[in-house]
Amino acid sequence: MGAPLLELRDVTVTFPGRGWFGRRAAPVQAVRGASLTVAPGETVGLVGESGCGKSTLGRATVRLVTPQSGQVLFDGRDITRLPQSALRPLRPKFQMVFQDPYSSLNPSLPIVDSVGEPLRVHTRLPARQRADQVVSALELVGLAARHLYRYPAEFSGGQRQRLALARALVLDPRLVVCDEVTSALDVSTQNQILTLLDQLRRERGVSFLFVSHNLLAVRHIAARVAVMYLGRIIEEGPTERVFTAPAHPYTRALLAAIPGEHRRRDAGGRPSAPAGELPSPVNPPAGCPFHTRCPPVMDRCRTELPPPTRVDGGGAVACHLQTAGPTLAGRPLPAQ
Ligand code: SF4
Repeated sequence: MGAPLLELRDVTVTFPGRGWFGRRAAPVQAVRGASLTVAPGETVGLVGESGCGKSTLGRATVRLVTPQSGQVLFDGRDITRLPQSALRPLRPKFQMVFQDPYSSLNPSLPIVDSVGEPLRVHTRLPARQRADQVVSALELVGLAARHLYRYPAEFSGGQRQRLALARALVLDPRLVVCDEVTSALDVSTQNQILTLLDQLRRERGVSFLFVSHNLLAVRHIAARVAVMYLGRIIEEGPTERVFTAPAHPYTRALLAAIPGEHRRRDAGGRPSAPAGELPSPVNPPAGCPFHTRCPPVMDRCRTELPPPTRVDGGGAVACHLQTAGPTLAGRPLPAQ
């Protein structure tokens, strides 16, 4: 594989804690040392429970938040700490689409203006040419030019998500971060949006970081998947390997929670969905972040952070079971 379009290296994002009545509180450790790549024309899924840090990592990717440490490289260029003035000419190349299309579509503006706003901000095109480009973007997402002077409220949920996507695509980006873009849609509309994203990837070479808690949607669309837990990426690899031979106990538990044919069971035949609560990112446990909920927890898990270890079939996992014995198929990474 060639050079990645996006490379996240050991990214950490911490938010200041908010206490009562303006008092100081401990910081929230939203993302801790996350590393990930996305190749040109590739879709990578980022999954995990609500609150695991996946949306924050997506925002850090497009510099809507600035990491405290680590690096975000876009097309080989380190954008981690670029000031907004230097980021501005790069922004057309990486865009983000959110779960709620209203967050990017101004309900008081007609589509020609709300979808065309990035053109107004980033180009000097006259209004007529901006409208032409909005029509092209609408057609890309399967909407007709006749919608140009309608308002967001006149569209269905699925159409609004197409409009949000058109707004992201109007500047011809190379990378789009999709944050739960199908979560508010019915199953049939979800499938239409997934098909559309894959078509854009194949036909226009757009790369996608697809952030979702919907594992079936991720399996449908992503070539690779990364699993996050409490701010850390605890497993990544080719989607089929992760879904058919998950190496991390948390990944297995997540898959167990999917109804139907993906349901997995433990040795006793019972479903093995994650038990217990996600610990607070304000005070994450020492050692392996999953040790408070992990059935095969060992003593060392409580104090030692497991290193990433290669997995047969592709990818890596961070679990001491991979280095402590022959239980699973992993092997230690060679020393750097
Ligand atoms: Fe469970 Fe230990 Fe592996 Fe963490 S390192 S997932 S606690 S076995």
